[in-house]
Amino acid sequence: MGEQEVTADADLDPLLVAALCGTVVPGRETLGGLFRQDGAADGLAPGPVLAELTAQQVARADELSDDEVIGTMHAARRQANLADYQQTVMVAVFTRRRRAQFEAALAAGKPAGCRDGEFPGAELAMELTETQAEAGLRSDTAVELTTRLPRTLALMATGVLDLGRAMTIAQRTLILSDTDAAYADEVLSAVAADMRPDQLARKAAALEMKLAPEAVKARKEQARQLDQRVEVRRELSGNASLSGRELSTADALASKAHIDAIAARLRDSGMVEGTLPRLRALVLTDLTQGRAPLDRIKPGSSSQDPQDPQDPRPDPAPGPLPALINLLVPADTLLGQGNAPTQAGPWDLLDADDTKTVVKAASRHPRTRWCVTVTGTDGTAVAHGCADGQHPWPASSPPSASSPPSASGPRSASSPPSAGRPPEGGPEPPLHALLRRLNITLDPLARDTCDHQHAENRYVPSRRLRHLLRARNQTCTAPACNAQAVHCDSDHTVPYPDGPTCECNLNPKCRRHHRAKQAPGWKVTQPAPDTARWVTPAGRVHTVGPTRYDS
Ligand SMILES: [Zn+2]
Ligand SMILES: [Zn+2]
Ligand SMILES: [Zn+2]
Repeated sequence: MGEQEVTADADLDPLLVAALCGTVVPGRETLGGLFRQDGAADGLAPGPVLAELTAQQVARADELSDDEVIGTMHAARRQANLADYQQTVMVAVFTRRRRAQFEAALAAGKPAGCRDGEFPGAELAMELTETQAEAGLRSDTAVELTTRLPRTLALMATGVLDLGRAMTIAQRTLILSDTDAAYADEVLSAVAADMRPDQLARKAAALEMKLAPEAVKARKEQARQLDQRVEVRRELSGNASLSGRELSTADALASKAHIDAIAARLRDSGMVEGTLPRLRALVLTDLTQGRAPLDRIKPGSSSQDPQDPQDPRPDPAPGPLPALINLLVPADTLLGQGNAPTQAGPWDLLDADDTKTVVKAASRHPRTRWCVTVTGTDGTAVAHGCADGQHPWPASSPPSASSPPSASGPRSASSPPSAGRPPEGGPEPPLHALLRRLNITLDPLARDTCDHQHAENRYVPSRRLRHLLRARNQTCTAPACNAQAVHCDSDHTVPYPDGPTCECNLNPKCRRHHRAKQAPGWKVTQPAPDTARWVTPAGRVHTVGPTRYDS
Protein backbone atom coordinates (compact mmCIF):
# COMPACT_ATOMS: atom_id res chain seq x y z
CA MET A 1 0.00 0.00 0.00
CA GLY A 2 1.24 3.47 -0.79
CA GLU A 3 1.98 4.93 2.59
CA GLN A 4 2.71 8.26 0.98
CA GLU A 5 -0.64 8.28 -0.70
CA VAL A 6 -2.31 8.04 2.67
CA THR A 7 -0.19 10.65 4.37
CA ALA A 8 -0.72 12.94 1.41
CA ASP A 9 -4.43 13.06 2.19
CA ALA A 10 -4.81 16.39 3.95
CA ASP A 11 -8.13 15.38 5.57
CA LEU A 12 -6.66 12.44 7.42
CA ASP A 13 -5.88 12.75 11.08
CA PRO A 14 -2.16 11.90 11.56
CA LEU A 15 -3.22 9.70 14.42
CA LEU A 16 -5.33 7.57 12.07
CA VAL A 17 -2.40 7.28 9.72
CA ALA A 18 -0.21 6.18 12.59
CA ALA A 19 -2.80 3.63 13.59
CA LEU A 20 -3.04 2.35 10.03
CA CYS A 21 0.71 1.97 9.85
CA GLY A 22 0.87 0.34 13.24
CA THR A 23 2.97 3.19 14.59
CA VAL A 24 2.59 4.12 18.22
CA VAL A 25 2.31 7.84 18.88
CA PRO A 26 3.77 8.54 22.34
CA GLY A 27 1.47 10.31 24.71
CA ARG A 28 -1.52 10.01 22.42
CA GLU A 29 -4.50 7.73 22.23
CA THR A 30 -4.08 4.05 21.55
CA LEU A 31 -5.82 2.57 18.54
CA GLY A 32 -8.69 1.46 20.77
CA GLY A 33 -9.16 5.02 21.96
CA LEU A 34 -9.90 6.13 18.43
CA PHE A 35 -13.19 4.33 18.61
CA ARG A 36 -14.38 5.83 21.90
CA GLN A 37 -17.30 8.22 21.64
CA ASP A 38 -15.95 11.35 19.88
CA GLY A 39 -12.62 9.57 19.27
CA ALA A 40 -10.81 10.24 16.01
CA ALA A 41 -12.40 7.27 14.25
CA ASP A 42 -15.86 7.67 15.78
CA GLY A 43 -17.16 9.92 13.03
CA LEU A 44 -14.89 8.69 10.26
CA ALA A 45 -16.69 8.18 6.96
CA PRO A 46 -16.78 4.63 5.58
CA GLY A 47 -14.08 3.63 3.12
CA PRO A 48 -10.74 1.83 3.01
CA VAL A 49 -9.28 3.63 6.05
CA LEU A 50 -12.22 2.90 8.32
CA ALA A 51 -12.39 -0.65 6.92
CA GLU A 52 -8.77 -1.31 7.90
CA LEU A 53 -9.11 0.27 11.34
CA THR A 54 -12.32 -1.65 12.00
CA ALA A 55 -10.69 -4.92 10.97
CA GLN A 56 -7.85 -4.23 13.45
CA GLN A 57 -10.38 -3.59 16.21
CA VAL A 58 -12.28 -6.78 15.49
CA ALA A 59 -9.05 -8.77 15.63
CA ARG A 60 -8.50 -7.63 19.23
CA ALA A 61 -12.17 -7.40 20.19
CA ASP A 62 -11.76 -8.91 23.65
CA GLU A 63 -9.30 -6.19 24.71
CA LEU A 64 -11.66 -3.32 23.91
CA SER A 65 -13.62 -1.35 26.47
CA ASP A 66 -17.41 -1.33 26.19
CA ASP A 67 -17.20 2.18 24.74
CA GLU A 68 -14.80 0.99 22.06
CA VAL A 69 -16.89 -2.09 21.32
CA ILE A 70 -19.89 0.14 20.67
CA GLY A 71 -17.76 2.52 18.57
CA THR A 72 -16.48 -0.36 16.47
CA MET A 73 -20.03 -1.65 16.07
CA HIS A 74 -21.06 1.72 14.69
CA ALA A 75 -18.04 1.75 12.39
CA ALA A 76 -18.90 -1.69 11.00
CA ARG A 77 -22.43 -0.47 10.42
CA ARG A 78 -21.22 2.58 8.46
CA GLN A 79 -19.12 0.25 6.33
CA ALA A 80 -22.14 -1.98 5.73
CA ASN A 81 -24.26 1.04 4.77
CA LEU A 82 -21.64 2.04 2.22
CA ALA A 83 -21.69 -1.50 0.81
CA ASP A 84 -25.51 -1.30 0.63
CA TYR A 85 -25.14 1.95 -1.32
CA GLN A 86 -22.74 0.28 -3.74
CA GLN A 87 -25.05 -2.70 -4.22
CA THR A 88 -28.02 -0.37 -4.73
CA VAL A 89 -26.17 1.48 -7.51
CA MET A 90 -25.40 -1.82 -9.24
CA VAL A 91 -28.96 -3.12 -8.90
CA ALA A 92 -30.21 0.16 -10.36
CA VAL A 93 -27.84 -0.05 -13.33
CA PHE A 94 -28.91 -3.63 -14.00
CA THR A 95 -32.59 -2.75 -13.72
CA ARG A 96 -32.34 0.32 -15.97
CA ARG A 97 -30.56 -1.73 -18.64
CA ARG A 98 -33.26 -4.40 -18.63
CA ARG A 99 -35.98 -1.77 -18.66
CA ALA A 100 -34.38 -0.03 -21.66
CA GLN A 101 -34.19 -3.38 -23.50
CA PHE A 102 -37.81 -4.05 -22.65
CA GLU A 103 -38.94 -0.61 -23.87
CA ALA A 104 -37.04 -1.11 -27.14
CA ALA A 105 -38.62 -4.55 -27.68
CA LEU A 106 -42.03 -3.08 -26.92
CA ALA A 107 -41.48 -0.25 -29.39
CA ALA A 108 -40.39 -2.79 -32.01
CA GLY A 109 -43.74 -4.53 -31.61
CA LYS A 110 -42.42 -7.77 -30.09
CA PRO A 111 -45.23 -9.82 -28.48
CA ALA A 112 -45.42 -10.60 -24.76
CA GLY A 113 -43.07 -13.39 -23.71
CA CYS A 114 -40.65 -12.60 -26.56
CA ARG A 115 -39.32 -9.28 -25.32
CA ASP A 116 -35.77 -8.66 -24.19
CA GLY A 117 -35.54 -7.59 -20.57
CA GLU A 118 -38.96 -9.01 -19.77
CA PHE A 119 -38.04 -10.97 -16.64
CA PRO A 120 -35.51 -8.86 -14.72
CA GLY A 121 -36.99 -9.95 -11.38
CA ALA A 122 -36.45 -13.63 -12.23
CA GLU A 123 -32.88 -12.90 -13.29
CA LEU A 124 -32.01 -10.86 -10.21
CA ALA A 125 -33.68 -13.34 -7.85
CA MET A 126 -31.45 -16.13 -9.19
CA GLU A 127 -28.33 -14.08 -8.59
CA LEU A 128 -29.25 -12.90 -5.10
CA THR A 129 -30.98 -16.13 -4.05
CA GLU A 130 -34.16 -14.48 -2.92
CA THR A 131 -37.79 -14.45 -3.98
CA GLN A 132 -38.83 -12.64 -7.13
CA ALA A 133 -41.00 -10.35 -5.03
CA GLU A 134 -37.96 -9.42 -2.94
CA ALA A 135 -35.80 -8.94 -6.02
CA GLY A 136 -38.52 -6.90 -7.71
CA LEU A 137 -38.83 -4.61 -4.70
CA ARG A 138 -35.05 -4.27 -4.58
CA SER A 139 -35.04 -3.29 -8.27
CA ASP A 140 -37.84 -0.76 -7.97
CA THR A 141 -36.42 0.90 -4.89
CA ALA A 142 -32.86 0.96 -6.28
CA VAL A 143 -34.04 2.84 -9.35
CA GLU A 144 -36.13 5.13 -7.16
CA LEU A 145 -33.21 5.88 -4.83
CA THR A 146 -30.76 6.57 -7.64
CA THR A 147 -33.11 8.76 -9.65
CA ARG A 148 -35.55 10.60 -7.41
CA LEU A 149 -34.21 10.35 -3.85
CA PRO A 150 -30.74 11.95 -3.95
CA ARG A 151 -30.72 12.98 -0.29
CA THR A 152 -31.61 9.52 1.00
CA LEU A 153 -29.06 7.94 -1.33
CA ALA A 154 -26.35 10.32 -0.14
CA LEU A 155 -26.99 9.26 3.45
CA MET A 156 -26.35 5.66 2.43
CA ALA A 157 -23.11 6.63 0.68
CA THR A 158 -21.84 8.43 3.78
CA GLY A 159 -22.71 5.42 5.94
CA VAL A 160 -25.47 7.16 7.90
CA LEU A 161 -28.46 5.23 6.56
CA ASP A 162 -28.95 1.49 6.06
CA LEU A 163 -30.63 -0.22 3.14
CA GLY A 164 -33.69 -1.20 5.16
CA ARG A 165 -34.59 2.38 6.09
CA ALA A 166 -33.72 3.64 2.60
CA MET A 167 -36.01 1.02 1.04
CA THR A 168 -38.77 1.97 3.48
CA ILE A 169 -38.61 5.52 2.15
CA ALA A 170 -38.32 4.47 -1.50
CA GLN A 171 -41.30 2.11 -1.27
CA ARG A 172 -43.45 5.00 -0.12
CA THR A 173 -42.39 7.37 -2.88
CA LEU A 174 -42.87 4.98 -5.82
CA ILE A 175 -46.42 6.15 -6.51
CA LEU A 176 -45.68 9.85 -5.94
CA SER A 177 -45.18 12.52 -8.61
CA ASP A 178 -41.62 13.82 -9.13
CA THR A 179 -42.39 16.94 -7.09
CA ASP A 180 -43.94 14.99 -4.24
CA ALA A 181 -41.11 12.43 -4.28
CA ALA A 182 -38.56 15.23 -3.99
CA TYR A 183 -40.50 16.68 -1.07
CA ALA A 184 -40.72 13.29 0.66
CA ASP A 185 -36.99 12.75 0.11
CA GLU A 186 -36.28 16.03 1.87
CA VAL A 187 -38.66 15.43 4.78
CA LEU A 188 -37.88 11.76 5.42
CA SER A 189 -34.12 11.83 4.90
CA ALA A 190 -33.90 14.56 7.55
CA VAL A 191 -35.26 12.22 10.24
CA ALA A 192 -34.64 8.70 8.93
CA ALA A 193 -31.38 7.94 10.74
CA ASP A 194 -32.84 8.87 14.12
CA MET A 195 -36.03 6.83 13.82
CA ARG A 196 -36.63 3.17 14.47
CA PRO A 197 -37.55 1.29 11.28
CA ASP A 198 -41.17 0.90 12.40
CA GLN A 199 -41.46 4.59 13.30
CA LEU A 200 -40.00 5.59 9.96
CA ALA A 201 -42.35 3.22 8.15
CA ARG A 202 -45.35 4.81 9.86
CA LYS A 203 -44.18 8.34 9.10
CA ALA A 204 -43.45 7.48 5.46
CA ALA A 205 -46.88 5.84 5.06
CA ALA A 206 -48.60 8.87 6.58
CA LEU A 207 -46.75 11.21 4.25
CA GLU A 208 -47.59 9.06 1.23
CA MET A 209 -51.24 9.09 2.23
CA LYS A 210 -51.19 12.85 2.63
CA LEU A 211 -49.51 13.47 -0.71
CA ALA A 212 -51.30 10.89 -2.89
CA PRO A 213 -54.50 9.60 -1.27
CA GLU A 214 -56.04 8.52 -4.57
CA ALA A 215 -53.00 6.48 -5.59
CA VAL A 216 -52.93 4.77 -2.19
CA LYS A 217 -56.61 3.92 -2.55
CA ALA A 218 -56.04 2.47 -6.01
CA ARG A 219 -53.13 0.35 -4.73
CA LYS A 220 -55.28 -1.06 -1.92
CA GLU A 221 -58.06 -1.90 -4.34
CA GLN A 222 -55.62 -3.59 -6.72
CA ALA A 223 -54.06 -5.67 -3.93
CA ARG A 224 -57.52 -6.81 -2.80
CA GLN A 225 -58.33 -7.85 -6.36
CA LEU A 226 -55.06 -9.59 -7.16
CA ASP A 227 -53.45 -10.69 -3.91
CA GLN A 228 -56.27 -11.63 -1.54
CA ARG A 229 -55.60 -15.09 -0.14
CA VAL A 230 -55.46 -17.35 2.91
CA GLU A 231 -52.02 -18.47 3.97
CA VAL A 232 -50.78 -21.29 6.14
CA ARG A 233 -47.21 -20.78 7.28
CA ARG A 234 -44.80 -22.49 9.58
CA GLU A 235 -44.00 -20.80 12.87
CA LEU A 236 -40.45 -20.79 14.21
CA SER A 237 -41.65 -23.03 17.05
CA GLY A 238 -42.79 -25.72 14.59
CA ASN A 239 -46.49 -24.89 14.85
CA ALA A 240 -48.46 -23.32 12.01
CA SER A 241 -50.18 -20.00 11.41
CA LEU A 242 -53.34 -19.29 9.42
CA SER A 243 -53.99 -15.82 8.04
CA GLY A 244 -56.18 -13.99 5.56
CA ARG A 245 -54.04 -11.60 3.49
CA GLU A 246 -54.92 -8.33 1.76
CA LEU A 247 -58.34 -8.19 3.43
CA SER A 248 -60.12 -4.87 3.68
CA THR A 249 -59.34 -3.26 7.03
CA ALA A 250 -63.04 -3.18 7.98
CA ASP A 251 -63.46 -6.89 7.18
CA ALA A 252 -60.42 -7.92 9.17
CA LEU A 253 -61.48 -5.85 12.19
CA ALA A 254 -65.06 -7.16 12.01
CA SER A 255 -63.84 -10.78 11.90
CA LYS A 256 -61.54 -10.13 14.83
CA ALA A 257 -64.34 -8.51 16.83
CA HIS A 258 -66.61 -11.50 16.13
CA ILE A 259 -63.91 -13.93 17.29
CA ASP A 260 -63.25 -11.79 20.39
CA ALA A 261 -66.92 -11.73 21.35
CA ILE A 262 -67.38 -15.52 21.09
CA ALA A 263 -64.12 -16.15 22.95
CA ALA A 264 -65.28 -13.85 25.75
CA ARG A 265 -68.54 -15.82 26.05
CA LEU A 266 -66.60 -19.09 26.24
CA ARG A 267 -64.41 -17.67 28.99
CA ASP A 268 -67.33 -16.20 30.95
CA SER A 269 -69.13 -19.56 30.86
CA GLY A 270 -66.32 -21.09 32.89
CA MET A 271 -66.84 -24.32 30.93
CA VAL A 272 -63.88 -24.02 28.56
CA GLU A 273 -60.34 -23.76 29.83
CA GLY A 274 -57.67 -21.49 28.43
CA THR A 275 -56.54 -17.90 28.35
CA LEU A 276 -58.47 -15.44 26.24
CA PRO A 277 -55.84 -15.44 23.43
CA ARG A 278 -56.01 -19.24 23.27
CA LEU A 279 -59.81 -19.19 23.27
CA ARG A 280 -59.73 -16.77 20.33
CA ALA A 281 -57.54 -19.20 18.41
CA LEU A 282 -59.92 -22.02 19.33
CA VAL A 283 -62.87 -19.99 18.00
CA LEU A 284 -60.97 -19.30 14.77
CA THR A 285 -60.27 -22.99 14.10
CA ASP A 286 -63.81 -23.97 15.11
CA LEU A 287 -65.37 -21.45 12.75
CA THR A 288 -63.11 -22.32 9.84
CA GLN A 289 -63.74 -26.07 10.17
CA GLY A 290 -67.52 -25.82 10.28
CA ARG A 291 -67.88 -26.32 14.04
CA ALA A 292 -69.97 -24.01 16.19
CA PRO A 293 -67.75 -22.79 19.04
CA LEU A 294 -70.72 -22.02 21.27
CA ASP A 295 -71.72 -25.70 21.18
CA ARG A 296 -68.90 -26.15 23.66
CA ILE A 297 -70.92 -24.44 26.36
CA LYS A 298 -74.33 -25.93 25.62
CA PRO A 299 -75.74 -27.79 28.63
CA GLY A 300 -74.70 -31.43 28.60
CA SER A 301 -72.09 -30.93 25.92
CA SER A 302 -68.77 -32.70 26.10
CA SER A 303 -65.79 -30.87 24.81
CA GLN A 304 -64.16 -34.17 23.89
CA ASP A 305 -64.16 -35.69 20.46
CA PRO A 306 -66.91 -38.31 20.54
CA GLN A 307 -64.98 -40.41 18.00
CA ASP A 308 -61.95 -40.57 20.21
CA PRO A 309 -62.98 -40.81 23.87
CA GLN A 310 -59.43 -41.82 24.88
CA ASP A 311 -58.03 -38.52 23.65
CA PRO A 312 -57.21 -36.44 26.73
CA ARG A 313 -57.01 -33.16 24.82
CA PRO A 314 -59.92 -30.77 25.32
CA ASP A 315 -59.98 -29.88 21.59
CA PRO A 316 -61.69 -32.08 19.02
CA ALA A 317 -59.52 -33.68 16.36
CA PRO A 318 -59.05 -31.54 13.24
CA GLY A 319 -61.61 -32.13 10.51
CA PRO A 320 -60.83 -34.42 7.58
CA LEU A 321 -58.51 -32.82 5.04
CA PRO A 322 -57.62 -33.95 1.55
CA ALA A 323 -53.90 -34.51 1.08
CA LEU A 324 -51.35 -36.30 -0.97
CA ILE A 325 -49.44 -38.01 1.80
CA ASN A 326 -45.89 -38.62 0.72
CA LEU A 327 -43.86 -40.79 3.05
CA LEU A 328 -40.16 -40.02 2.73
CA VAL A 329 -38.29 -43.20 3.42
CA PRO A 330 -34.48 -43.24 3.59
CA ALA A 331 -33.36 -46.35 1.71
CA ASP A 332 -31.24 -47.58 4.58
CA THR A 333 -34.22 -47.65 6.94
CA LEU A 334 -36.29 -49.79 4.60
CA LEU A 335 -34.99 -52.89 6.29
CA GLY A 336 -35.11 -51.47 9.77
CA GLN A 337 -37.43 -49.62 12.05
CA GLY A 338 -39.21 -46.96 10.00
CA ASN A 339 -39.37 -43.42 11.26
CA ALA A 340 -40.21 -41.63 8.06
CA PRO A 341 -40.65 -37.89 7.75
CA THR A 342 -43.75 -37.12 5.77
CA GLN A 343 -45.20 -34.57 3.42
CA ALA A 344 -48.90 -33.80 3.40
CA GLY A 345 -49.40 -31.89 0.18
CA PRO A 346 -46.65 -29.29 0.01
CA TRP A 347 -46.32 -29.27 3.79
CA ASP A 348 -43.32 -30.96 5.35
CA LEU A 349 -44.19 -32.72 8.56
CA LEU A 350 -41.07 -32.69 10.62
CA ASP A 351 -42.18 -34.09 13.93
CA ALA A 352 -43.84 -37.33 14.90
CA ASP A 353 -46.84 -35.89 16.72
CA ASP A 354 -47.78 -33.58 13.85
CA THR A 355 -47.37 -36.42 11.41
CA LYS A 356 -49.66 -38.66 13.44
CA THR A 357 -52.37 -36.01 13.79
CA VAL A 358 -52.27 -34.76 10.20
CA VAL A 359 -52.02 -38.19 8.60
CA LYS A 360 -54.88 -39.38 10.79
CA ALA A 361 -57.06 -36.43 9.76
CA ALA A 362 -56.09 -36.78 6.11
CA SER A 363 -56.80 -40.49 6.02
CA ARG A 364 -60.47 -39.76 6.85
CA HIS A 365 -60.84 -37.73 3.63
CA PRO A 366 -61.97 -39.61 0.50
CA ARG A 367 -59.61 -37.68 -1.80
CA THR A 368 -56.48 -38.45 0.20
CA ARG A 369 -53.88 -40.60 -1.57
CA TRP A 370 -50.64 -42.17 -0.38
CA CYS A 371 -47.21 -42.14 -1.99
CA VAL A 372 -43.75 -43.26 -0.92
CA THR A 373 -40.52 -41.55 -1.92
CA VAL A 374 -37.34 -43.48 -1.12
CA THR A 375 -34.28 -41.28 -0.55
CA GLY A 376 -30.63 -42.21 -0.93
CA THR A 377 -27.73 -41.47 1.38
CA ASP A 378 -27.37 -37.93 -0.03
CA GLY A 379 -31.01 -37.16 0.73
CA THR A 380 -32.16 -37.11 -2.91
CA ALA A 381 -34.97 -39.31 -4.21
CA VAL A 382 -34.02 -42.64 -5.72
CA ALA A 383 -37.46 -44.21 -6.16
CA HIS A 384 -41.14 -43.37 -5.89
CA GLY A 385 -44.35 -45.32 -5.74
CA CYS A 386 -48.02 -44.34 -5.62
CA ALA A 387 -50.77 -46.28 -3.85
CA ASP A 388 -54.14 -46.67 -5.51
CA GLY A 389 -57.33 -45.67 -3.76
CA GLN A 390 -58.12 -44.54 -0.26
CA HIS A 391 -56.39 -46.02 2.76
CA PRO A 392 -58.12 -45.14 6.01
CA TRP A 393 -56.06 -44.90 9.13
CA PRO A 394 -56.42 -48.28 10.82
CA ALA A 395 -58.17 -47.88 14.14
CA SER A 396 -57.39 -51.42 15.25
CA SER A 397 -53.85 -50.74 16.36
CA PRO A 398 -52.80 -47.34 17.71
CA PRO A 399 -49.68 -45.98 16.03
CA SER A 400 -46.58 -45.45 18.11
CA ALA A 401 -45.30 -41.91 18.34
CA SER A 402 -41.76 -42.95 17.45
CA SER A 403 -42.78 -44.26 14.05
CA PRO A 404 -45.30 -41.68 12.91
CA PRO A 405 -46.85 -42.90 9.69
CA SER A 406 -46.77 -46.47 10.80
CA ALA A 407 -49.67 -48.81 11.04
CA SER A 408 -50.25 -52.49 11.30
CA GLY A 409 -53.35 -52.96 9.29
CA PRO A 410 -54.52 -56.06 7.46
CA ARG A 411 -51.69 -57.47 5.37
CA SER A 412 -51.85 -57.31 1.67
CA ALA A 413 -50.85 -60.44 -0.18
CA SER A 414 -48.16 -58.76 -2.24
CA SER A 415 -45.24 -56.88 -0.74
CA PRO A 416 -43.46 -53.92 -2.33
CA PRO A 417 -40.72 -55.36 -4.51
CA SER A 418 -38.02 -52.87 -3.58
CA ALA A 419 -38.92 -52.75 0.06
CA GLY A 420 -36.86 -55.76 0.93
CA ARG A 421 -37.79 -58.50 3.31
CA PRO A 422 -38.44 -57.97 6.98
CA PRO A 423 -35.76 -59.37 9.25
CA GLU A 424 -36.12 -63.06 9.98
CA GLY A 425 -38.23 -63.66 13.05
CA GLY A 426 -39.31 -60.91 15.40
CA PRO A 427 -42.12 -58.43 14.81
CA GLU A 428 -42.39 -56.78 11.41
CA PRO A 429 -41.25 -53.11 11.47
CA PRO A 430 -44.25 -50.78 11.29
CA LEU A 431 -42.99 -49.07 8.14
CA HIS A 432 -42.84 -52.43 6.44
CA ALA A 433 -46.36 -53.20 7.43
CA LEU A 434 -47.50 -49.87 6.06
CA LEU A 435 -45.76 -50.33 2.71
CA ARG A 436 -47.20 -53.79 2.50
CA ARG A 437 -50.68 -52.53 3.25
CA LEU A 438 -50.43 -49.71 0.71
CA ASN A 439 -49.36 -52.29 -1.89
CA ILE A 440 -46.97 -49.88 -3.58
CA THR A 441 -44.67 -50.72 -6.45
CA LEU A 442 -41.57 -48.54 -6.33
CA ASP A 443 -40.17 -47.12 -9.57
CA PRO A 444 -36.47 -46.17 -9.63
CA LEU A 445 -35.69 -42.62 -10.76
CA ALA A 446 -33.34 -41.82 -13.65
CA ARG A 447 -30.42 -39.82 -12.30
CA ASP A 448 -27.19 -39.58 -14.33
CA THR A 449 -28.44 -41.39 -17.42
CA CYS A 450 -31.82 -42.43 -18.74
CA ASP A 451 -32.95 -45.71 -20.25
CA HIS A 452 -36.31 -44.05 -21.09
CA GLN A 453 -38.03 -46.75 -19.05
CA HIS A 454 -40.77 -44.28 -18.08
CA ALA A 455 -41.00 -42.48 -21.46
CA GLU A 456 -44.57 -41.89 -22.62
CA ASN A 457 -45.94 -41.36 -26.11
CA ARG A 458 -47.96 -38.29 -25.18
CA TYR A 459 -47.48 -34.58 -24.47
CA VAL A 460 -48.96 -34.41 -20.97
CA PRO A 461 -47.16 -36.82 -18.65
CA SER A 462 -49.25 -39.33 -16.70
CA ARG A 463 -49.86 -38.99 -12.98
CA ARG A 464 -47.22 -41.63 -12.31
CA LEU A 465 -44.55 -39.82 -14.37
CA ARG A 466 -45.50 -36.47 -12.82
CA HIS A 467 -45.05 -38.01 -9.39
CA LEU A 468 -41.59 -39.32 -10.36
CA LEU A 469 -40.61 -35.80 -11.48
CA ARG A 470 -42.00 -34.26 -8.31
CA ALA A 471 -40.21 -36.80 -6.14
CA ARG A 472 -36.97 -35.84 -7.89
CA ASN A 473 -37.67 -32.08 -7.78
CA GLN A 474 -40.03 -30.93 -5.08
CA THR A 475 -39.95 -27.34 -6.39
CA CYS A 476 -39.58 -25.44 -9.66
CA THR A 477 -36.18 -26.24 -11.16
CA ALA A 478 -35.16 -22.59 -11.56
CA PRO A 479 -32.40 -21.43 -9.21
CA ALA A 480 -33.73 -20.07 -5.90
CA CYS A 481 -37.37 -20.71 -6.86
CA ASN A 482 -39.46 -22.33 -4.19
CA ALA A 483 -42.71 -22.79 -6.12
CA GLN A 484 -44.09 -26.22 -5.21
CA ALA A 485 -43.80 -28.70 -8.09
CA VAL A 486 -47.42 -29.70 -7.55
CA HIS A 487 -48.41 -26.22 -8.78
CA CYS A 488 -45.82 -26.18 -11.61
CA ASP A 489 -45.95 -27.00 -15.31
CA SER A 490 -44.24 -30.21 -16.39
CA ASP A 491 -41.99 -28.45 -18.87
CA HIS A 492 -40.32 -30.27 -21.78
CA THR A 493 -36.72 -29.00 -21.82
CA VAL A 494 -36.56 -29.75 -25.56
CA PRO A 495 -40.07 -29.08 -26.89
CA TYR A 496 -42.28 -32.10 -27.63
CA PRO A 497 -42.23 -34.02 -29.93
CA ASP A 498 -38.55 -33.28 -30.71
CA GLY A 499 -37.84 -33.99 -27.05
CA PRO A 500 -39.48 -37.01 -25.40
CA THR A 501 -42.01 -37.04 -22.57
CA CYS A 502 -39.51 -38.67 -20.26
CA GLU A 503 -37.67 -38.03 -17.00
CA CYS A 504 -34.61 -36.92 -19.00
CA ASN A 505 -36.53 -34.14 -20.79
CA LEU A 506 -39.06 -32.95 -18.22
CA ASN A 507 -38.68 -30.60 -15.29
CA PRO A 508 -41.22 -28.85 -13.09
CA LYS A 509 -41.25 -25.09 -13.74
CA CYS A 510 -43.49 -22.47 -12.24
CA ARG A 511 -45.43 -20.42 -14.76
CA ARG A 512 -43.14 -17.44 -14.49
CA HIS A 513 -39.93 -19.40 -15.00
CA HIS A 514 -41.55 -21.41 -17.75
CA ARG A 515 -42.20 -18.14 -19.57
CA ALA A 516 -38.80 -16.67 -18.70
CA LYS A 517 -37.08 -19.73 -20.16
CA GLN A 518 -38.76 -19.03 -23.51
CA ALA A 519 -37.85 -15.32 -23.57
CA PRO A 520 -34.86 -13.92 -25.50
CA GLY A 521 -31.49 -14.34 -23.81
CA TRP A 522 -32.50 -17.31 -21.64
CA LYS A 523 -31.39 -20.88 -22.22
CA VAL A 524 -32.18 -24.03 -20.22
CA THR A 525 -30.70 -27.45 -20.84
CA GLN A 526 -30.89 -30.76 -18.99
CA PRO A 527 -27.38 -32.23 -19.18
CA ALA A 528 -28.47 -35.16 -16.97
CA PRO A 529 -32.01 -36.30 -16.10
CA ASP A 530 -31.70 -34.81 -12.60
CA THR A 531 -29.87 -31.58 -13.56
CA ALA A 532 -31.17 -28.29 -14.95
CA ARG A 533 -28.67 -25.78 -16.35
CA TRP A 534 -29.84 -22.18 -16.70
CA VAL A 535 -28.09 -19.45 -18.68
CA THR A 536 -29.44 -15.96 -17.91
CA PRO A 537 -29.53 -12.97 -20.30
CA ALA A 538 -26.42 -11.69 -18.49
CA GLY A 539 -24.69 -14.91 -19.55
CA ARG A 540 -24.34 -16.28 -16.05
CA VAL A 541 -24.77 -20.01 -15.56
CA HIS A 542 -26.67 -21.67 -12.70
CA THR A 543 -27.02 -25.41 -12.23
CA VAL A 544 -29.84 -26.92 -10.20
CA GLY A 545 -29.78 -30.52 -9.01
CA PRO A 546 -32.45 -32.72 -7.49
CA THR A 547 -34.17 -31.84 -4.21
CA ARG A 548 -32.27 -32.84 -1.10
CA TYR A 549 -34.81 -33.92 1.48
CA ASP A 550 -33.96 -33.23 5.08
CA SER A 551 -33.22 -36.48 6.76
ZN1 LIG B 1 -46.91 -40.77 -6.15
ZN1 LIG C 1 -35.45 -40.60 -20.79
ZN1 LIG D 1 -40.00 -20.98 -10.64
